[in-house]
Amino acid sequence: MSATQSFWSVPQRAGEPAYLVCMSCLSEVFYCKVPMPDCPTCQGVSTYEAFTIEAIRDWGTEDLIAKAGIAQHAATLEAISAASVKSAD
Ligand SMILES: [Zn+2]
Repeated sequence: MSATQSFWSVPQRAGEPAYLVCMSCLSEVFYCKVPMPDCPTCQGVSTYEAFTIEAIRDWGTEDLIAKAGIAQHAATLEAISAASVKSAD
């Protein structure tokens, strides 16, 4: 019961929002990546669309907004640890 969720990384393009929300269940949000092969909550495939944090705050539930904040924070930590691994050599 400890299956690790896999992700496709979604490189952020200039001018495009970095938050990816499942449009099927509206309860999952990720930052610059989407779960594969499907949404962990509703098993929807290709249901993720990009939004800005402002848009999510506008129409998202409190839970979704909180998840967006956590996802962005986790992505920042990953970027920092990846950078420190590179510079350690
Ligand atoms: Zn979903």
